[in-house]
Amino acid sequence: MTFDDLNLIEPILKALKEEGYTTPTPIQEQAIPHVIEGKDLLGVAQTGTGKTAAFTVPILQVLHRTAQLERHAPRAIRCLVLTPTRELAIQINESFGAYGRHLSQIRHTVIFGGVGQNPQVAALKRGVEVLIATPGRLLDLMNQGFVDLRQIEVFVLDEADRMLDMGFINDIKRILPKLPTKRQTLFFSATMPGQIQELASTILRPNPVRV
Ligand code: AMP
Repeated sequence: MTFDDLNLIEPILKALKEEGYTTPTPIQEQAIPHVIEGKDLLGVAQTGTGKTAAFTVPILQVLHRTAQLERHAPRAIRCLVLTPTRELAIQINESFGAYGRHLSQIRHTVIFGGVGQNPQVAALKRGVEVLIATPGRLLDLMNQGFVDLRQIEVFVLDEADRMLDMGFINDIKRILPKLPTKRQTLFFSATMPGQIQELASTILRPNPVRV
C-alpha cells in the first residue's frame, strides 16, 4: 500500500512526496478513505503513529473539493481542531501547512493561550478555513466575538483523554453547542476509559468508523 492507492488528489500526493513519505502508517491507511467519504471516526491512537496526517490529509482533500466551487463565497471557518496543548496545536497547524502547501486556497491558523491575542485575532480577521485551537483561548476569543463556528463542516477532538486530565471538559462542553449538529466529527484518544467513551458518544454520530 502506498499513498497513491488512497485516492488522494495530486497536490496532496506531491506534498507528501516532498515530505519524504511513501507508505501510509496503519492509522493513515485505515482512516484516510473513510474521512474522505465524510464518515465520523473514533480513533484510538497515540502520538507517533502518524495520527496527525491521518486527519489533516483527508480534511484538506474534503475542504479542497468544495473550496473551488465556493471560491467567491466569504471565508468562513470550515474545520475546527481542538487539541490540549500549545505544542500539539502548533504541530497540527504545521501539518496543515506542509500537506496543504499546494492548496493555496485553504488557509489555516492556530490559537492558544499564554501569549498575546492580537496577532491571533488579526489572523482570524484575515479569514481562515481551518482553525486549530486549545480550548481556553478558543472560548476566550469566541466570547469576544472573534470566532464564528456556525459554518463548521469538520470538527476534530484530538487527545480527548488528555483534555479530560487537563481539566478542559467544561470548556469543551461550552464550545460544543456552538457547532452545527450537521457536521463530520473525528475523535481521537490514546485511551478509552468509560468517561471518554461517553464523551465520544455525545459528540459523534452513531456507529462511527473505529480505527
Ligand atoms: P504523529 O503521530 O502524527 O505525531 O506523527 C509522528 C511523526 O511521524 C511525525 O514526525 C510525522 O512527520 C511522521 N510521519 C507521519 N506519517 C508518516 C508517514 N506516512 N511516513 C513517514 N513519516 C510519517
